[in-house]
Amino acid sequence: NSAAKAPPTPSPLRFSKFFQSNMRILVTGGAGFIGSHLVDRLMENEKNEVIVADNYFTGSKDNLKKWIGHPRFELIRHDVTEPLLVEVDQIYHLACPASPIFYKYNPVKTIKTNVIGTLNMLGLAKRVGARILLTSTSEVYGDPLIHPQTESYWGNVNPIGVRSCYDEGKRVAETLMFDYHRQHGIEIRIARIFNTYGPRMNIDDGRVVSNFIAQAIRNEPLTVQAPGTQTRSFCYVSDMVDGLIRLMEGENTGPINIGNPGEFTMIELAENVKELINPEVKIISVENTPDDPRQRKPDITKAKELLGWEPKIKLRDGLPLMEEDFRQRLGVPRKN
Ligand code: NAD
Ligand code: UDP
Ligand code: UDP
Repeated sequence: NSAAKAPPTPSPLRFSKFFQSNMRILVTGGAGFIGSHLVDRLMENEKNEVIVADNYFTGSKDNLKKWIGHPRFELIRHDVTEPLLVEVDQIYHLACPASPIFYKYNPVKTIKTNVIGTLNMLGLAKRVGARILLTSTSEVYGDPLIHPQTESYWGNVNPIGVRSCYDEGKRVAETLMFDYHRQHGIEIRIARIFNTYGPRMNIDDGRVVSNFIAQAIRNEPLTVQAPGTQTRSFCYVSDMVDGLIRLMEGENTGPINIGNPGEFTMIELAENVKELINPEVKIISVENTPDDPRQRKPDITKAKELLGWEPKIKLRDGLPLMEEDFRQRLGVPRKN
């Protein structure tokens, strides 16, 4: 004999949110490797409109071809060292070459991209009240003296070396993020990304996973840079994108390490690629470049606790997923 419950009356606030539920998201560097996978994931949500700003230095329209012409997608040729006027709710700021070959090619441009580019995106965030996420890097820890690296470690970075345009550039970008946060109340998120791999990496961009896979497919020797005992921890790109979105959507500014704690020497990586992709291929030792960090492995306690995130894909499962994409682009099918 209880009366039927009246349906809840929507509050005016909820009602207005209903009408403005579309989220407009800017992805700088969205034509690149991680950026294009991030765009794919963001576009899956029908409430998102995505704007990519990219100057195509290391990225390509090809990476976004399935979205060109889509009503919720826009692609702008734009260099982030120039001011940008758009109206958005969120900014994923990725624009910056990530491979040492490319960021050393024009180091002055690299540091301008990191400093002036980030300043411009923060100015934009301030003007429109957007939340902004910076993809910083494990390179802010330099050649680390503590292992694994926690976010509280301040790093061991050469300020005048050939990598400085990138690692010191990202350190200034982090400083700018926190200064805009403290001084202007901007909502910021900082991800410290560790080595990431997966489909759509530039085939000849010089990073170790892409080099080894392309070499194995072309039956060329795998070039392990001396001494080969230096370590890295490799995160598959879908795990990375998942971590970035959780960070953006969560309540923590960071910095938060996003990476896979599985640690491998470059010799072990070469042996894995050889075993999985081409058992006939040779492994050779070649000269290294200056300031190469000797070890790198993320402590991801913060990501686990604050974001509920940890990577799912092991290196030995991720490498074959990348092989498929590289074989297609190189035009070398697998022999049965
Ligand atoms: P990527 O080189 O594939 O992508 C970078 C994109 O930024 C490219 O599309 C490039 O054209 C664009 N870009 C470069 N300079 C620009 C400028 N001045 N204006 C506009 N666009 C510009 O690299 P990625 O691996 O996708 O890296 C994305 C981000 O993640 C970068 O900020 C990088 O520093 C960071 N990161 C990547 C890794 C990794 O292992 N891939 C590791 C640590 C940090
Ligand atoms: N900026 C931008 N888009 C905007 C607003 C600002 O690119 O929508 C740039 C602007 O050109 C400036 C930078 O962001 O160089 C920093 O802007 P801010 O307003 O913080 O500083 P100011 O313009 O006072 O130097
Ligand atoms: N490396 C290698 N062979 C290659 C390219 C790179 O052994 O063909 C090594 C390099 O010396 C470094 C590690 O792989 O120790 C990772 O290099 P990468 O350029 O991929 O990334 P980063 O140095 O930025 O971590």
